[in-house]
Amino acid sequence: MPNDRHSLQPTANLTVIMIGLLMVAIVTWWVPALTLASHNLLFRLRGTITPLSEITILAIDDQSLQQIGPWPWPRSVMAEVIDRLTALKPRAIGLDVLYAETPDTAPDLEPNLELARAVAKNGRVVMPAQLYDRPSPSGRPAISWLRPAPLFADQAAVLGHVHVAPGIDGMVRSVQLSKASDQGERLWAFAIEVIRLADGIDEAEIVELPGSIRVGGYRIPVIDPASPSTTAGVTVIRSNEMPINFAGSAGTFRTLSISDLLADKVEAHLLRDQLVLIGATAQSMGDSRIAPFTHFGDDPLQGGREMPGVEIHANIINTIRARLNFRTVTESTGLLSALLSMLLTLLVVTFLDGWRQIIALGLLLAAIITGSYLAFARLLILPPLVEMVTGFTVVIPFLINRSLVLSRELDTRLAALAASAPGLLSDPTSTSRSTADRRGIKLPYGFRWKLQTVESLTTRLLARVGFINRVLSSMGEGVIVTDLDGRIILSNQVADEFFLTTLAREAQPLLLIDLLGSSGHLHPSALPALIQKVIAREVVQLDYTIESVPPRHLTIFLSALVASAESEGLRVIDKSDQDAKGVVVGMVLLLSDVTKRVELDRLKTETVQLVSHELRAPLSSIHALSEVLLKFSVSPDESREMLATINSEARRLGETISLYLDLNRLESGARPLNCVPTDLPLLISTVCRLLTATATQKQIRIVEDPDSELPRLTVDPILLSHALTNLLSNAIKYSPPRTTVRIGAHLKTDELQHICLTVRDQGYGIPPEVGERIFERFYRLDRDHTSGVVGSGLGLALVREIAERHGGSVTFHSLPEGGTEFTLSIPLTVHRRHTQD
Ligand code: ADP
Repeated sequence: MPNDRHSLQPTANLTVIMIGLLMVAIVTWWVPALTLASHNLLFRLRGTITPLSEITILAIDDQSLQQIGPWPWPRSVMAEVIDRLTALKPRAIGLDVLYAETPDTAPDLEPNLELARAVAKNGRVVMPAQLYDRPSPSGRPAISWLRPAPLFADQAAVLGHVHVAPGIDGMVRSVQLSKASDQGERLWAFAIEVIRLADGIDEAEIVELPGSIRVGGYRIPVIDPASPSTTAGVTVIRSNEMPINFAGSAGTFRTLSISDLLADKVEAHLLRDQLVLIGATAQSMGDSRIAPFTHFGDDPLQGGREMPGVEIHANIINTIRARLNFRTVTESTGLLSALLSMLLTLLVVTFLDGWRQIIALGLLLAAIITGSYLAFARLLILPPLVEMVTGFTVVIPFLINRSLVLSRELDTRLAALAASAPGLLSDPTSTSRSTADRRGIKLPYGFRWKLQTVESLTTRLLARVGFINRVLSSMGEGVIVTDLDGRIILSNQVADEFFLTTLAREAQPLLLIDLLGSSGHLHPSALPALIQKVIAREVVQLDYTIESVPPRHLTIFLSALVASAESEGLRVIDKSDQDAKGVVVGMVLLLSDVTKRVELDRLKTETVQLVSHELRAPLSSIHALSEVLLKFSVSPDESREMLATINSEARRLGETISLYLDLNRLESGARPLNCVPTDLPLLISTVCRLLTATATQKQIRIVEDPDSELPRLTVDPILLSHALTNLLSNAIKYSPPRTTVRIGAHLKTDELQHICLTVRDQGYGIPPEVGERIFERFYRLDRDHTSGVVGSGLGLALVREIAERHGGSVTFHSLPEGGTEFTLSIPLTVHRRHTQD
């Protein structure tokens, strides 16, 4: 189940992104006011910027209305204003007052003529025109230009349209730089004409380019949705909409009152070389619009005033001349930005958790707003803020939903766990939910329930793990658990002690095959066959010996580790193997130490061999000879011979029994080592003396040849002389008469210093193929059975046991000239072998 969910995650994320993009499209297309409001926000965040000082508004303000009288003024007043301006030499005048009619008769005509003369005299006055619905003869209204009366229009330098383009919220954010009547008569915007006049740009120098318009040296980016006409002879007149970069709220531009000009209160330099815009700023005139800086409240500093039309023209001129034009982003860029913000949000939520997630989301939102602000204020881009914020916010409910789904899933799983393992998990909800249950209300499991459940589960699981560990470590048997690849994943203390190492290693898991191959004789090819049997659910028994000193004999039971694979998170070898009992996911090895039993078995076998063969043969010959002596009259010579045989067989019996007992006592540890510093040459002499008689009988010469200056050796002298006696007596026994036996001792200096005691004879030799078997108990060469040399086959076994008890060894080799040399090597520092108890 968890894996399935992970594989579904990309699909879920893709769905979230698709839905998110759809939401972004819906929000930006169907709620455009949000985009507009976001631009207002950015204008206010940026605040006021200083406009160009060359733009001056000459205002028909409240003060002028008070002093000159209410509007409309006699046109001679405006004529005087223009005359005064002419004297002050501004670069251009934009007269934002539409004088559409003139009276026909004198004396009313005179002031109009004055104004026309003043305009004509100045020669640099832009006059306004605007479109209106004119009823046509056909009854259908036609859109035509309402121009100044011809008396004025003829004198004006040029006419410019004074329309602005309010958005759907009635707020002015842009201007259409060109407008046309139904008859296709196009007029450029009032502000464009003022700039053209001021800079002396010819109309021919206005060029419409894709996405922008060039006016002389100004390249003005415009929103240009018009596509070129495909009908021959029809020219599409573009609206050339330009976003206005408002410098600030109403009153940001330098404004002079007309009444001050008429009263000579204006300093001449304030108007010289200026672009002067004459228009109404008095609120009572009604020529004002709401602009981005306008907001509720009446504090003028807070932008509580609507913006007079003339100031909007000032803002347009300022935008173009200060080259502060905004660039807009395309819809696809907007969607891409939304996609980016969604992806970032998804990343944050996928990879971070808790307070980190909240902080990262906060930072992301701050980055979106700051980035948008910087793009707006520094790069003059109208950023897709709404798209990005929508992308950001749209993703979040889905993520909340995801965590709700996860939380619900956790509930279900915990509840299932509680139900499936009643012993393991007491119902932690019993207290918190009992009241609700009694009322019959099933409350959804809350965080408290989850926490309690997890806590209780953890405690109980830990307790259970502790219990299982205790059971494992208290077992007398070793336990090893492996996975199907044979990697050891668990072992108990006893198993570790068998192999003298920690078997279950996390970093570099130990392979069972390596362990069993290196510690004893288990052929690597044998294990796979065993594993196959185990996978087939057979319990396999294996006898195994750890080749330590002393060897440890184990019986290993291998059985299948069966589990519900998903719950254990282990690899399943074969799905078809899965049945009601679960699947095989590994092996369990139970290791029993059977060393004692094996030893006992060996002893038993040996004892049977001893009694049935080694003891029975001499006994039966004693029995037979004594019966002859009892029942028959035998000559004195014969009876003497028979008695001698009885005596030698009895001695052999006694020797065999005492050697066997010595060996067993030594092996079982019943005879401890009593080590003392020992003078070796002395010990050798004693041994030789004991055997001189036997040697003399066979005319064998014993030569003692120990090195002089031998260090004293710390050994058990009794045992060592036993061993030497055996080697020396063998040398005498298995040599022909009139030969020499040499017994020597020398110091061997390798990394461990040894004393080597050698017994060299000129005897019958030992065939090399016999090898180490010569040291086995009761082993005798075939030739001994016919030669009549008395022996038990225990002597060399005892020599080896004594050597090993001293940490040394015994070896032999055949000499090229015939005969054998036995070497007993004992380390100077005796590492005594641990005896088995
Ligand atoms: P045994 O009591 O029969 O001598 P050992 O264990 O001492 O038993 O010797 C085992 C066998 O090894 C003997 O039967 C003998 O054949 C052979 N053997 C031992 N020492 C020598 C030797 N020095 N030369 C030849 N054969 C030897």
